[in-house]
Amino acid sequence: MPIYEGVIDRYRKFLPVSDETPDVAMGEGNTPLVRSRRIGPELGCELYFKLEGMNPTGSFKDRGMCVAIAKALEAGSTRVMCASTGNTSASASAYASRYGMEAIVLVPAGEIALGKLAQAMAYGARMIAVRGNFDDALQIVLRATEEMEITLVNSVNPHRLAGQKTAAFEIVDELGDAPDMLCIPVGNAGNITAYWMGFTEYREHEHARSLPRMMGYQAAGAAPIVHDRVVEEPKTIASAIRIGNPANWQGAVKARDDSGGTIGAVTDDQIVSAYLRLAREEGIFCEPASAASVAGLIQLGESGEDLEDKTVVCVITGNGLKDPSTAETTAKVELEYVEPDYAAVSKILKNGRAGG
Ligand SMILES: *Cc1c(COP(=O)(O)O)cnc(C)c1O
Repeated sequence: MPIYEGVIDRYRKFLPVSDETPDVAMGEGNTPLVRSRRIGPELGCELYFKLEGMNPTGSFKDRGMCVAIAKALEAGSTRVMCASTGNTSASASAYASRYGMEAIVLVPAGEIALGKLAQAMAYGARMIAVRGNFDDALQIVLRATEEMEITLVNSVNPHRLAGQKTAAFEIVDELGDAPDMLCIPVGNAGNITAYWMGFTEYREHEHARSLPRMMGYQAAGAAPIVHDRVVEEPKTIASAIRIGNPANWQGAVKARDDSGGTIGAVTDDQIVSAYLRLAREEGIFCEPASAASVAGLIQLGESGEDLEDKTVVCVITGNGLKDPSTAETTAKVELEYVEPDYAAVSKILKNGRAGG
């Protein structure tokens, strides 16, 4: 078997690349589709998790970033810039450093999960903290990349979405057809737009017979698409989807309407509950934002929707290690301190666990 390079190599004919486009690859894509052992059987559906946290920088952003960086290099660019709730900046910085470019990232001050901040720092990005939210940062980046010779690598860059649609291809390649439903968190709404492009394109090329219903989930405190109005001060524990004015708003609406799907809202309590269930019942440690997809599916089941024998894929967008503080504060596991000898450990094990 040849070595797996990345999504450009595998899905070249579906991507905006030519022989002139530099090879950019870091093993992104080709992520596991893992069958649910507890949540799916309980809901009565055949549920799979698409583990996008297995990408090189720990989120799906790498699928699109490799294409965006390849096209930037092809155009002779030496600098890339993005606004980010964290994962875009981690991904942009990684690919920029690998291919000798400068990455400039604008993050909302104080709102970035620790792991993501650490990544961008380690990769050597230039980091600018804006005293405002993500939407403020994006407006500045849009203007800066228009007025200066810097390539924009947010998901308004169409090459990002082109790369991200490959996740839909992988799901179809693995299942043999599209699932009945795809549940996905929605922030800036690039990913839901990209998946819908991927599913429709794959069907046009007769790699799939059907299309899924696109079920997007926003956090209740940051649900502009659900309420059809901009949220000035988006609030949620799920920092990756803390966005009040999504750049790909229309793409999400189109995916919803064309697929007969929905864009729904889930509360932070529902997100945390799904986040802990994924970890404790499925062995999957994801970001809070990623758990919004599963929270949405559970909510759908509770609302009486018939999920019986439906094939459902929940996109698990990012790795739990990105946000260690949320794990610590929500898991509420106390360390049991002991003296360093066998007797002390065996004594507490024989006594069972405190509190049950
Ligand atoms: C970026 C991101 C999202 C949201 O994706 P959009 O394309 O902005 O809708 C969700 N989860 C994680 C982990 C992300 O990094």
